[in-house]
Formats: sequence, C-alpha cells, structure tokens
Amino acid sequence: MLTQIKGLHHVTSIASDPARNNAFFTDTLGLRRVKTTVNFDAPDVYHLYYGDEVGTPGTVMTHFPFPGAARGRTGTGEVGETLFAVPPGTLDNWSDRLAGRAKDLDRDTRFGEQRLTFRSNDNEAFALVESEDARVPWTGNGVDEDHAIRGFRGATLRLADTGAMAELLGFMGYQKAETRDGVTRYLIEGGNPADAIDLSQADAAPARQGAGSVHHIAFAVEDRAAQLEVRRALTDTGYAVTPVIDRDYFWAIYFRTPGGVLFEVATNEPGFDRDEDTAHLGEALKLPTQHEHLRQQLQQHLQPLDA
Ligand code: ZN
Repeated sequence: MLTQIKGLHHVTSIASDPARNNAFFTDTLGLRRVKTTVNFDAPDVYHLYYGDEVGTPGTVMTHFPFPGAARGRTGTGEVGETLFAVPPGTLDNWSDRLAGRAKDLDRDTRFGEQRLTFRSNDNEAFALVESEDARVPWTGNGVDEDHAIRGFRGATLRLADTGAMAELLGFMGYQKAETRDGVTRYLIEGGNPADAIDLSQADAAPARQGAGSVHHIAFAVEDRAAQLEVRRALTDTGYAVTPVIDRDYFWAIYFRTPGGVLFEVATNEPGFDRDEDTAHLGEALKLPTQHEHLRQQLQQHLQPLDA
C-alpha cells in the first residue's frame, strides 16, 4: 500500500464560456482565480485555476473552457460530483446565495454530513458539504470567512462496477469507511482535508465528456521523489502511467483507472506563486515557455474573462 498520497490536489473539468465560468467560480462560489493560463497541450484554450489564496493543493478547481462546447452526457466512468467543504450551519445561507445563480439546488445528508447539491451554468454537479475544517478560506470575492468554501471535501466517482476502483483506492492508501444508500466512502489519513472519495455504483451508460464533465481528478504528493515512488508502484502493478510532465505549477503523471476515470498524481511543489506575487495571482495571462511565442495571437484569440 502506498503512503505518499495526501488527498486531492485538484479537479479539472470542461466548461463552455470562459467569462461565465470565471464569474461562477469567483463571484458566485467566492473562490480566488489563482492562475490564468492555457491548456499546455492545446494552448488556444484557457486553463483557469480557482482555489484559496495561494491555490493550496486540495482546494484547486480548474477548467478548460471551450467557447460553444457541447454539453457532456452524465453516466458511468466519471467523477459524478465534486464536494466542497463549508462550515457547519451555513447551508441556508448558501441556498439563498445560489438561488437563481445555480441550478437543481437540493439538500440531503450523506455519511452524517449535511449537503447542498447544485449544478453550475455548465450543468456540472457539485455539493457543498458542512464539515469541521480548519483551512483558512479566500474571502476576497464577497463570501465572508464564516461561510466561505474551505477547499474540497472530496469527490464522488460514479462507476458501472466499483470493485476494481475499490482495490485501486486501497492500493493508493485509502481505507473503506462506510456504505450508506449504495455509496461507499473511502478516506485517507495523514494528508490534507480533501480526504474523501465516495464510490457510487450506477446502472447507466458510459458518460460522454463535454462541457460540465470532469476531465480528470488529481491526487497530491509532497514532491517529485514521492511522485516517482508512486509512479514505479503503479507501473509495477500494471498501470500504464505517463512520464512525469512539467505543468509549471506542479509535476504531473496520469493514468486511466478501471472503469474509465482519468487519475493524475501531482506534486505540491512548486506552487502557483512561482511566477506571480501572491497579491496578484491569476491577474496576468501566464504562458509556459514552450508557448510564449504564441502570446500575441493568444491574447487576441482568448475571450476576456471579465466581460
Ligand atoms: Zn490536472
């Protein structure tokens, strides 16, 4: 069993309109846009990162917004729901805040935690989960400290068959906590508070990715040495893992899991303040060295975020 994985690092989804995506995650949910860059593999598309003040691993929701993108189809083999932690007793307030700005608002309880589930403008599924969480939230976008999102609580994976995924999570260091209403919670100790992965078995067709779909989910490791240990262990177990890829703000490896969800393992180093002051994170368009020569045409092509 691995001991290097420290909870979630980030969740990356597909969106449509970049300005609406920015408005939803900053103005509505109150997160900070900590990096404005492009998809390193397709630089004509933004890669927008939202999180706490500095984009601490375990708080970072990211999007590839393709203007006009067709909506995805929900199904199996995907992240069905991304869970954010909010303080206990705040869901009535959040309900009021999200009314008219988010869709399909609903309340439920899972594993003893009160939840407010909703969908974004792109129909992406989220839940705000009341939980004790000592992380310091970002408060610069109109949600005060008593209510603000602390970071991720975890994520729900929706699968046609959860058996192989349960085995993989165990290998990654997660322990089965409990099963309720057909959903099984796995927790990892010794990492950040984004420590929950819920497995939901569903009898549905495979998901088709599009706007509102999670593209991949990333798990945190401390540094590159830990990442190489994880890579070696996964490879030895038979997973086809990519080489280590430099994403400027972290190092990444990717592998496809049984059931279809794309996993990434990302380093906590070097972080989002490597090329901008903390006070100005996310303000300027940052390009990786290999795409810097495209700056002028990208600045003309990419739609303004604050439109
Ligand atoms: Zn990623």
